[in-house]
Amino acid sequence: MAAELRGVVAMDGPGGTGKTTVARRLANRLGAGYLDTGAMYRAITLAALRAGADVAAADAVTTVAKAADVEVGTDPDAPVALLDGDDVGAEIRGDVVTSAVSAVAAVPAVRELLVGQQRDIIDRVLAEVGGIVVEGRDIGTVVAPDARLKIFLTASAEVRAARRLAQDSAAGRESNHGDVLRSVDRRDRLDSTRAADPMRPAADAVEFDTTDVGVDDVVASLCELAEQRGILAGRGATP
Ligand code: C5P
Repeated sequence: MAAELRGVVAMDGPGGTGKTTVARRLANRLGAGYLDTGAMYRAITLAALRAGADVAAADAVTTVAKAADVEVGTDPDAPVALLDGDDVGAEIRGDVVTSAVSAVAAVPAVRELLVGQQRDIIDRVLAEVGGIVVEGRDIGTVVAPDARLKIFLTASAEVRAARRLAQDSAAGRESNHGDVLRSVDRRDRLDSTRAADPMRPAADAVEFDTTDVGVDDVVASLCELAEQRGILAGRGATP
């Protein structure tokens, strides 16, 4: 019988650390659900841009966020993102949204709204499936402070930029190393210095540097950690 996750794994860290790939593979391997909270901030950002709102204007962005219908899938093999019923999975990862998302995510009322929705999704998946891997910036500190395992992934800025570049090229988006490095640096600075729920490792998070470690090895180490924490059910088989 395969090992199955029980409870929440919080996966935080800056972009380009392999968070999404690692979180989805971990969830898949442990028969768990998956939640990409970044996709929710990105979808609200797209809604604000579509409405012609100034993303630096907290009131305007909050009005858009309250009216928007954002739905994200929790299947790690098909994490869809819908805005008012439209599949926006590709559009929310383009440059325009990526440059604006940190401003939207810094608005306290937007965070309050999305954190509430994220907790509801987590509760539903826990009731239905038993376990969930949640990725973001504030999962271990704010969204799920009682998570049974908290991971904070890091990697050198150079490696993170190189990974972003590879993702952009795979998705058919044109970019160059210098621009991507500046954009990665800028977003980290904005996300970690904002007043509301800044990105930071929880006091009880395990920090994991992925600079020189491949995805398979990171996932294998996290499975071991999950086993040591006693949060895997259906034991009797190696995860
Ligand atoms: O993870 P991803 O790069 O898609 O996140 C996009 C942005 O959404 C981040 O740069 C950050 O500004 C915001 N975010 C956040 N809190 C989260 C997840 C994402 O502020 N839990």
